Amino acid sequence: MNIEQQIKTLRNQLSEHNYNYYVLDNPTISDFEFDQKLKQLQELEKAHPEFYDANSPTLRVGGEITKNFETIPHTFRMYSLENSYSKEDLEDWEKRIEKMVDGVVEFTCELKYDGASISLTYEDGKLKRAVTRGDGFQGDDVTANVKTIRSVPLQLRGDYPPLFDIRGEIILPFEGFVKMNAERVELGEEPYRNPRNTASGSLKLQDSAEVAKRPLECLLYNIQGDRVPIKTQFESLQKAREWGFKVPEAAKLAKNLDEVLEFVNYWDVHRHELPYETDGVVVKVNSLQQQEELGYTAKSPRWAMAYKFKAEQVSTVLNQITYQVGRTGAITPVANLEAVELAGTIVKRASLHNADQIEKLDIREGDTVFVEKGGEIIPKIIGVDFTQRDPNSSPTQYITECPECNTPLVRAEGEAQHYCPNTAGCPPQIIGRIQHFISRKAMDIEGLGGETVALLVNNGLINNYADLYLLKEEQIIPLERMAQKSAENIINGVEASKQIPFERVLFGLGIRYVGETVAKKLANHYKTIDALKNATQEELITVDEIGERIAQSVVSFFASDETIAIIERLKMYGVQLEISAEKLANQTDTLKGNTFVVSGVFTKVSRNELKKLIEDNGGKVSSSISTKTNYVVAGDNMGPSKKTKAESLGVAIISEDDFLQMI
Ligand code: AMP
Ligand code: ZN
Repeated sequence: MNIEQQIKTLRNQLSEHNYNYYVLDNPTISDFEFDQKLKQLQELEKAHPEFYDANSPTLRVGGEITKNFETIPHTFRMYSLENSYSKEDLEDWEKRIEKMVDGVVEFTCELKYDGASISLTYEDGKLKRAVTRGDGFQGDDVTANVKTIRSVPLQLRGDYPPLFDIRGEIILPFEGFVKMNAERVELGEEPYRNPRNTASGSLKLQDSAEVAKRPLECLLYNIQGDRVPIKTQFESLQKAREWGFKVPEAAKLAKNLDEVLEFVNYWDVHRHELPYETDGVVVKVNSLQQQEELGYTAKSPRWAMAYKFKAEQVSTVLNQITYQVGRTGAITPVANLEAVELAGTIVKRASLHNADQIEKLDIREGDTVFVEKGGEIIPKIIGVDFTQRDPNSSPTQYITECPECNTPLVRAEGEAQHYCPNTAGCPPQIIGRIQHFISRKAMDIEGLGGETVALLVNNGLINNYADLYLLKEEQIIPLERMAQKSAENIINGVEASKQIPFERVLFGLGIRYVGETVAKKLANHYKTIDALKNATQEELITVDEIGERIAQSVVSFFASDETIAIIERLKMYGVQLEISAEKLANQTDTLKGNTFVVSGVFTKVSRNELKKLIEDNGGKVSSSISTKTNYVVAGDNMGPSKKTKAESLGVAIISEDDFLQMI
């Protein structure tokens, strides 16, 4: 056998043993033998770098260092799940979906694994990339770290499609977690609080060799691809298993809602026997055809529902209510609690939302309160234990002045939140606005973190985001914790931000209610900041999806002379305040005023490309057919109920070719 064959054989053997051990839980050789083979391969690879393979089993031990995790857009968006908490919630959901689809609806029930979600891309059977969920549209490339997780196959087996994404959850089973903590305590280090945070923290470690030491696992639950020959969710789980992925056997096919409830009730009790954490069950419409008919809301699929087991609750003493000022001037009351352990974390603070909430629950300092942790990160107070109340306590007086700048607070009619109106002079607002401007989804200024912004503001170097562009290295170097290198990074990061496209700059300006999507809409519609600045409220409302509230906010943003001056400065410094010529060239108005629904599978372009083509040419994409729909672009396997609906509403059904002709 020549060297190359020898290396290949070892790689294949090790992959196989790895699969037996970590996926099937059924090792066929001893750990010692395994280590021997691994060592042998490592030596051969070292001596013969010409046979390098990015997916060799030797990479499982890590070693690659990632300094900055690259941001990667997801080909298929990673959605959230809608939550339900009772049998009735599930019944309502079933009723809703039965109205929207044809035929009998069956469900796949799965456990909801509590870890960090991950999207894996496989090309020709090889792991190409692993990306965190991020904001659902884009995440961080953590491939080097994920390769060290033994249950993630580097090379697939069987009859897999040439290109697809598979989603799953990276978890840390209790046993490994406990062991890791024992080792930490041994070394005099602080133990980790809970498996979930430890799992997601592990993915962002820079040294993959460190990740390799952590007993992480990856459990898979969803396949995404344009040409994947699968018809049901349950089948996709089976296929994923065949291709070498770890898919828990608990998943079950339920013929009706009663069987779903059986599954839920069973696991509500037996979840404590699982080797890893679960916070609920995920119920999915089994037929992918029906899933496609149901589509998505802005945040989550209509065809899936998470059922959350009852959250843990504790009671503790509320020591003090303090108030935070956000970047928009919004005041948030915060409950400072006597530290208490809740669902694996120590809780010291809880959100109180607003004045109404405090009044409604009659929450007072010194009260014993009930704290609950649902899916959200910040726990909330759900009530007061009145039996424990001090008879001398008096109702909470909400503050009337800003705790940071003493300006009297205002509260607009119909709004729950109090605001500090001192936009230009209130420190947390000044800092918050700049922090928002530099954030990843906006100007993404590397080298400049939130704390550094506060440092720069507090030292009088900057007072608004335009000032960033005048910063000089020699001003930064003398500051606390700063040095030549960090100062240079800031200056370079600021310089690079001049290339950030207009839509993200617009988002970064921090206009109230103008989030990423709205900023994109406005940028594409108005094309330049000057056109947007001159738009009246009446005009703004005519723009698709821009309502009264947003229009009003945009107008009042540009009504300030100070704002205009800052924007003029940004323009002068070379920040992109117009849509780029290149982008403009790819856009047309051909489809203006037309709303499209896309259904089925296409041959010339993918569904995503099709949607992009519609938007780039001025059309609008909607997920369900209504009287507002102008065209349904139908591919193969278009849902029959969509077809009937389109016909009954008299909506034109066109083919992929018809559509491509249109543009
Ligand atoms: P949430 O973030 O609470 O909206 O819940 C959605 C998340 O649940 C997804 O992003 C997944 O990471 C996670 N999840 C865990 N188990 C499953 C499962 N079996 N099916 C779908 N999602 C799951
Ligand atoms: Zn203030």
